[in-house]
Amino acid sequence: MKNVPELTPREYYRLPWSLTDNAISWLEVTDDCNLACEGCYRPHIKNHKSLEQIAEELAVFKARRKSDCMSIAGGDPLVHPQIVEIVRMVKEAGWKPIINTNGLALGMKLLRKLKDAGAYGFTFHVDTTQIRSDSEAVTEKQHNALRLKYAQMLAEVGGLSCSFNQTVCVDTLDQVKDTIEWAQQYPDLVHTMVFILFRTPELYGDYDVFANGKPVDITKTYERPDWGGDSLLKAKHVVAKIRELDADYQPCAYLSGDQDPNSTKWLLASRLASKDQSFGYVGPRSMEAIQNGHHFFKGTWLSYTDPKQNRRGRTTMMLLSLFDKQTRAVAKRWFSNLLKKPSSLFDPVHMQSFMVIQPIDVLEDGRANMCDGCPDMTVHEGELYWSCRLEEIKEYGCFLQGVKPDGSQPRPH
Ligand code: SF4
Repeated sequence: MKNVPELTPREYYRLPWSLTDNAISWLEVTDDCNLACEGCYRPHIKNHKSLEQIAEELAVFKARRKSDCMSIAGGDPLVHPQIVEIVRMVKEAGWKPIINTNGLALGMKLLRKLKDAGAYGFTFHVDTTQIRSDSEAVTEKQHNALRLKYAQMLAEVGGLSCSFNQTVCVDTLDQVKDTIEWAQQYPDLVHTMVFILFRTPELYGDYDVFANGKPVDITKTYERPDWGGDSLLKAKHVVAKIRELDADYQPCAYLSGDQDPNSTKWLLASRLASKDQSFGYVGPRSMEAIQNGHHFFKGTWLSYTDPKQNRRGRTTMMLLSLFDKQTRAVAKRWFSNLLKKPSSLFDPVHMQSFMVIQPIDVLEDGRANMCDGCPDMTVHEGELYWSCRLEEIKEYGCFLQGVKPDGSQPRPH
């Protein structure tokens, strides 16, 4: 893979999310799904959790962890027959319910019921690693029509946060530009675009993998190794790709790895733009002010900004530019555009976020490098686990461990 510049996380704001005080938590309501994507590592079992089980898991979250949002996931949560009731329970317990779905089961009637029950937003997973029954798209660019359909459905109901997840592997890295270019046309409809790097058995390199001392074939857990290519994708590769399209692109905040302080496991960039003009990306101090302001007034770290607030990007920009040089440069661009085109005074300015998530990577000495302050912690049998590695717990009762062929153990965590 092409050499690209390293990222400089020390220049970004380190998101203050932790195990006990986070922006997001992750509730899985079923393993069942209405798609059968080859790369999915979940067995599609009809094991919908009962409302009692869900209430118990919510109680575990309440006792152990504060968070602003609750991602409701699966499988696909919309195939759970009591999804509306679940959303209501999450809302009544004090979280912002975010539904993580492939969108296939979402019609306008269900969407309105979910909004009435308290849904705060949706994260749609749409990409070419899926085998979708509602699309014949074979490129990410072709998938933009389906993304737009979901974004417009949410806009029709109004007041809902709209995000998209896209898995990125070596083969689709170049197409990141097509999705970004599309999202940038709709800052009013698309609030967040998330690129998640594909996991491959190549993670473990030359290591043999063991569970409870017994060798394990990890291709069972990490299917479709061919999609991963022969080298590991990192956040820096996606950043370089976005910059080919948008030279201004600049991350402002990150989560490091819990083993490698220089890794950028969650990388956030927030852009201010009107429908037809981009003004640039906010700086780290702006994100620090946003996070700390939210924690001071609401008691939780923020994720998924209120769509009403996203539309008030001009006010946000003016306030943040008081103490952030980078955001001040954004405001200056807005002013110079205003001088050239005075009628743009009334054009709304939107805040739109682009995120890159780099899941588990294995360091040279065998340590698994996880997101430090994982926002996607889920509950399983009364305990909190990284949701991205829950399959290991369910299948082997422990996390997998890489061991060098000469028998040496990884450095202990
Ligand atoms: S550790 Fe895994 S589950 Fe947690 S945020 Fe990172 S990728 Fe997601």
